[in-house]
Amino acid sequence: MSDFNPLMNFKLQRVQKAPDSDRFSSSPAWTQDAQYEIVDPETQKTWGFVCIDNTQRGPGLGGIRMAPNITLNEVSRLSRVMTHKNSAACIPYGGGKAGLVLNDPAFLSDPQTRAMLMEKFADALFELENYVPAPDMGTNEKDVQIIHNNHSQKLGTQKHSRGGAGRPINKGGIPIDDWELTAHGLFSAIKVIESVDESLDLSKTNFIVQGFGNVGAPTAIKLQEAGATLVGASDINIALWNSKGLDVHLLNKVRKEIGGLRNYPLEVEKKFSQDKLDWLLEAPCDVMVPCARPDAITAKNVDRVQCRYILQGANTPSSKPIEYYLHHRHNILSLTDFIVNAGGVIGCAVERNMIIDDSYADKVKQIGVRTYVENLICNTISNNVLENYTRMKNCKGYIFRDAATELATERLFSQEMWL
Ligand code: NAD
Repeated sequence: MSDFNPLMNFKLQRVQKAPDSDRFSSSPAWTQDAQYEIVDPETQKTWGFVCIDNTQRGPGLGGIRMAPNITLNEVSRLSRVMTHKNSAACIPYGGGKAGLVLNDPAFLSDPQTRAMLMEKFADALFELENYVPAPDMGTNEKDVQIIHNNHSQKLGTQKHSRGGAGRPINKGGIPIDDWELTAHGLFSAIKVIESVDESLDLSKTNFIVQGFGNVGAPTAIKLQEAGATLVGASDINIALWNSKGLDVHLLNKVRKEIGGLRNYPLEVEKKFSQDKLDWLLEAPCDVMVPCARPDAITAKNVDRVQCRYILQGANTPSSKPIEYYLHHRHNILSLTDFIVNAGGVIGCAVERNMIIDDSYADKVKQIGVRTYVENLICNTISNNVLENYTRMKNCKGYIFRDAATELATERLFSQEMWL
């Protein structure tokens, strides 16, 4: 995004998709509601994408991703995941997702430029009443607050349910990254598996984390506190492997520095540079926690994966066919993204409900906002993991994702709410 020009504007341009019914669609459940490109009308350059997948349960809630090489296909796939995630978690939202293409990360180191970019994006988003943005990879709660402020100004009030969720706490938001809500949900999920699968004992487990960011780092801390040993960790700069264990707190300290995990000061057995980051996914371990981009595990490396469990922090870290192969060929249990990483959207749903419903807000405040949200996440994700695990065991040939998709689709067409 180095050719960003402060005078430029963003406009949404509808992508005219050929209806699936004209072809032999491979995902017949429903057709995506709408896809948009974010373009500069002067130059027709495309800066990003927004996809609204399904609004059966409510407006499409899903984060804004800012990263290099984002495509319409990635955003579209992720918005479908959000539909499943929000319906499985029984919150009143459908699925949506946005992506901004950021080819030059240095570009955003200037907070003013970043704020300007978000303002322009907010202007374009205002016409989309059925999309609720939130933070995702590369964006944060301050970015969403800029969108919220922009919409407040246009609507002439602060008390509205437009303009995003997952905002800073001092602005009435629920900070999903600061409160480590997604990690809280991931940890709840693996604890349920520990309680039903006698071959998993977290205190004797070693694990690797791909993507030591806002989800990966706090998940590593929680697993370590439960007695597990982190043997591998990566970020966009480097992948580190040490069979005797890495120092989680040191990694957490250096991850926000320039160069990230490259600044880890202790000796390690193996280091993989930027062009070999994915080699870490082949490391022997009990639990792999992918927390970065889609398709970490593909046909290229699936036969070399050596873990026993995959806890999907990232959205779409693998595809359904790959998960079939992992399950049936390698006996690896892969816990589906939209079930186990729903902590963030549950926090967003509570935040928005507190704005529009005063009696709900009073109830939540009485319990304590963080306690209420953490309990809701733990209960929702624990129930869903157990439900899917049982369905999987009771249905021959099912993998965890089959059970999860079945559950999410049933709830998509129900009115059940768990807020
Ligand atoms: P983040 O930007 O804080 O962290 C991402 C990390 O991945 C960074 O450390 C980055 O350097 C690293 N990374 C990027 N490409 C990599 C690669 N090829 N190999 C190794 N590491 C790489 O983002 P986040 O919020 O932690 O989100 C991570 C994933 O979790 C995303 O897929 C996101 O959609 C998903 N997720 C996040 C939340 C949330 O609450 N933040 C909720 C649900 C799902």
